[in-house]
Amino acid sequence: MEEEIMPYYDDWIDEGKEYPNELHLKAYKAGINGAIFPKEYGGTPPENFDAFHELILWDELARTGGGAVLGQLGIDSMALPPVLLAGSQYLKDKVARDVISGKKHISLCISEPGAGSDVANIQTSAILDETGQYYIVNGSKKWITGGNMADFFTLACRTGDEDSGMTGVYDCTVSTECADSTCFSDVSVSHACACRWLVVM
Ligand SMILES: Cc1cc2nc3c(=O)[nH]c(=O)nc-3n(C[C@H](O)[C@H](O)[C@H](O)COP(=O)(O)OP(=O)(O)OC[C@H]3O[C@@H](n4cnc5c(N)ncnc54)[C@H](O)[C@@H]3O)c2cc1C
Repeated sequence: MEEEIMPYYDDWIDEGKEYPNELHLKAYKAGINGAIFPKEYGGTPPENFDAFHELILWDELARTGGGAVLGQLGIDSMALPPVLLAGSQYLKDKVARDVISGKKHISLCISEPGAGSDVANIQTSAILDETGQYYIVNGSKKWITGGNMADFFTLACRTGDEDSGMTGVYDCTVSTECADSTCFSDVSVSHACACRWLVVM
């Protein structure tokens, strides 16, 4: 913190410059990023690492007085677990190792212009196409932290009927190649997006 972050914090944040992604690579080498992820995908949890140690890790990272620098690490730690828990082996291999090592990033897209706390009423749909191989995803997401840095999105979408409520909501992993991240917090996924990776929780 003292050497790599504190001296540059004002420049990166107050001056409105983005912090370099290289910081994530250095953090991985220092054992920070990997501490909370499984070894199988490049995680580096120390022996007997538990929730209390994780609390210390986040507390140390918050010492800048602002959550912005390395903030994407916090988002990666929320958006990657659904992939690790329920993703196919293909998806885990494609996404997990690069995210854990800080080379790539993944953001969590749940909230929508018309659905915040009320997640059961999200409108973004994922409909299986006629080949049965792709999901066609349509919808808008709002307040997506780190959307500007993300390579992938864990995106909540509705596979059931409009009135299927919470039983019709699944997570879908979308690559930025097929989603527009128009600014820091808005992500729209249009008909052009064919999503192959549905994470069934
Ligand atoms: C800094 C920041 C970062 C964020 N990052 C992300 C992100 O990365 N990904 C993402 O998906 N979302 C993100 N969000 C969105 C966030 O999850 C939503 O703001 C949140 O779910 C609340 O939704 P809302 O703002 O639409 O408020 P609403 O759901 O409209 O709630 C408004 C008010 O009504 C109250 N309320 C709601 N429902 C009830 C109820 N049933 N009974 C009583 N009171 C109720 C709430 O407590 C609140 O006071 C972020 C938000 C912030 C502020």
